[in-house]
Amino acid sequence: MCPSGQKTITADSAPDFYGIDHYGFPRVGEDDPSDPKGYYPPYLRSERFQKYGYHVEELRDGFYWVTSAGYDAAFVVTGEGVVAIDAPPTLGENMLAAIEEVTDQPVTHVVYSHWHADHIGAASVFGPDVEIVAHRITKELLERFPDPKRPVPTRTFENDYVLDVGGVELHLSYKGENHCPGNIFVYAPRQKVLTAVDILSPGSVTFMHCDASQNISGWYEAHSQILEYDFDFFVGGHHMHYGTREQVELCVEYFADVLEGATAAVERFSGSDVLVGILAGAGQDRVFVGTENWISSMANYTTRHVLEKRTSNGQLWWERLAGATTQTKYHAYTVLESIRLERPRPDYRMRGTNPPPFQT
Ligand SMILES: [Zn+2]
Repeated sequence: MCPSGQKTITADSAPDFYGIDHYGFPRVGEDDPSDPKGYYPPYLRSERFQKYGYHVEELRDGFYWVTSAGYDAAFVVTGEGVVAIDAPPTLGENMLAAIEEVTDQPVTHVVYSHWHADHIGAASVFGPDVEIVAHRITKELLERFPDPKRPVPTRTFENDYVLDVGGVELHLSYKGENHCPGNIFVYAPRQKVLTAVDILSPGSVTFMHCDASQNISGWYEAHSQILEYDFDFFVGGHHMHYGTREQVELCVEYFADVLEGATAAVERFSGSDVLVGILAGAGQDRVFVGTENWISSMANYTTRHVLEKRTSNGQLWWERLAGATTQTKYHAYTVLESIRLERPRPDYRMRGTNPPPFQT
């Protein structure tokens, strides 16, 4: 027990949730019972994948998707060299192995989606002679926080840039901060492949806290910006899946439901009578425990809203996207905070009114 009387859950006291998730839903799926049926692609079980630890697949016309250990990257074979898009450390030299599997051409260009080490932390495998294209902000961040495994970009752009190698085009676009400053969209118009990293992960609800994103309003805006592209394939950087347009739309629908639930939670839990009630039960640490109770109440409300809602085909989210039962509460927390910090406030205190009666 902590001084406020709140029960602290430790590893020893945690209940056994085997066979049922934290919200009382039965776990389902093939390998991991919390994931929907069919989430794990067949290549994961292949002898080849077991042996080499990566998978490479041509999406269309020289555009390849490559994946390993939860991370996705891509490369394009142009006839005058290979353009790599990202180089996650989990792929590392396997990125080179994947390229060598399909072509003898050297890597001449590397595109950085954004500056994060988990997506480009093996870029040095391409050697010192490649042209590295990224947004100006990505270059500034890599100069400010140097990393020899993430060489500084040699070519930058501000809003839009067409990279043409051997007549194969990649349209790079920066639409403002979303997941992080400098995160760009990479569109291959001939192959109709869009790469936008750490926004949506087809097949799943993506990593917790909206993929650890910084600007949640910009990140939500990116969902609409993704759908503005005419793409048949989507590379999102994660979860060892590329996506079809339909799969991307499903992820967008899920996060719209998170925002809907969080907006309703903020409305429901913002009245001073509710706040006073939550604080009154918080014991002597009423300020901090009360705040935690308030945020947790809203996160729980949002999570329940999402997990109980019937989706567009009548199923529940955990039946359609992997990770719904475990990640939704983290997304809820992040989206709730973004509503508080980034979105317009409905009102403000009027002159001469008293603050809520916090008693000391
Ligand atoms: Zn990132």
